[in-house]
Amino acid sequence: MSLFTAVEMAPRDPILGLNEQFNADTNPNKVNLGVGVYYDDAGKLPLLECVQKAEKQMMDAPKPRGYLPIDGIAAYDSAVKALVFGADSDVVKAGRVATVQGLGGTGGLKVGADFLKQCNPNAKVLISDPSWENHRALFTRAGFTVETYPYYNSAKRGIDFDGMLTGLATAAEGSIVVLHACCHNPTGYDITAEQWDKVIETVKSKKLVPFLDMAYQGFGHGIAEDGAVIGKFVKSGLDFFVATSFSKSFSLYGERVGALSVLCGSKEEADRVLSQLKITIRTNYSNPPTHGAQVVATVLNTPELRALWEKELADMRTRIKQMRVALVEKLKGAGVKEDMSFITDQIGMFSYSGMSKDQMVRLRNEFGVYGVDSGRICVAALNSRNIDYVCQSIAKVL
Ligand code: PMP
Repeated sequence: MSLFTAVEMAPRDPILGLNEQFNADTNPNKVNLGVGVYYDDAGKLPLLECVQKAEKQMMDAPKPRGYLPIDGIAAYDSAVKALVFGADSDVVKAGRVATVQGLGGTGGLKVGADFLKQCNPNAKVLISDPSWENHRALFTRAGFTVETYPYYNSAKRGIDFDGMLTGLATAAEGSIVVLHACCHNPTGYDITAEQWDKVIETVKSKKLVPFLDMAYQGFGHGIAEDGAVIGKFVKSGLDFFVATSFSKSFSLYGERVGALSVLCGSKEEADRVLSQLKITIRTNYSNPPTHGAQVVATVLNTPELRALWEKELADMRTRIKQMRVALVEKLKGAGVKEDMSFITDQIGMFSYSGMSKDQMVRLRNEFGVYGVDSGRICVAALNSRNIDYVCQSIAKVL
């Protein structure tokens, strides 16, 4: 008998497991559309020029690596606030936003979840059906009961908005509702501006606690456009949480750069909230790492690098949209009779393709084209070299 005798083998992470299977596949034509990563048209993970320039600046004036403050680099936190709430935001000026540097978007979500558990331990958490896999796991681990609100209607190939509103309207007061700010993962379907207004109205009248997950700001319609939903929440007068990720928008996946921002009713409240967020961080990993956040702060706070980043981000966004258009055309060209134009209605890195689990398994086993069993494919991993093969393969399993 050891301490670990009763420890069960945990299931493999479904998406990372898929990666392992992909790496082991000897098919020379194999294509990985499973994991949520942006690749350029050459199939490479980009190292953005703005990042390289910021790193060069940093290396030219090297700094010692002391501990950072618990809440991170001050210039980074203020750049995050400006990005999320707008450069001229009144609530930021009034000191009503508590922002902490986080370990990626996941870290921001986790610090927020732990703090919420302290504020309202009996609250339920509602996530969209379906949602990013880790939402359920992360909030469950933080001690919450996690339930879902309807989101995707597979028969309709779109959002079940009435279902979503009813789901929110019937939630218990104080429930925490996790909302994808833009580029919904996994479906690729976002609600419209008018629908956001209705969601906000419902959230407000039912006294729910909104937690916006903003993992793809700038990947949808633009930095400001994708951030517009934050402005709507601010206007509503609600207090809310926002988790930010720079993994995709800066192609800094491995640096773990993100943040958590909490909009509070007053500066005094924000100061108290910040003090508690700092305890959550202190007792988890003490303080955040220096490099990635320094890169992002340098880029966001240097006008010339900021302009370069906006251009590079726009290039990524545009390339994904081109791949969506090409996918629709080439599927048709490969003989697919079904109307696949829904793919261009979707936004961000992902597409719910409508393919069944069996079809996804066949794509993988017979053609080496890897997507998630749910039918989710990463459009940002398509390129001018692999798209024809992917379309021909899909046409054969449909
Ligand atoms: N939220 C959503 C919706 C995501 O898709 C992701 C990344 N796949 C994250 C959060 C986490 O981002 P990060 O890698 O920065 O932790």
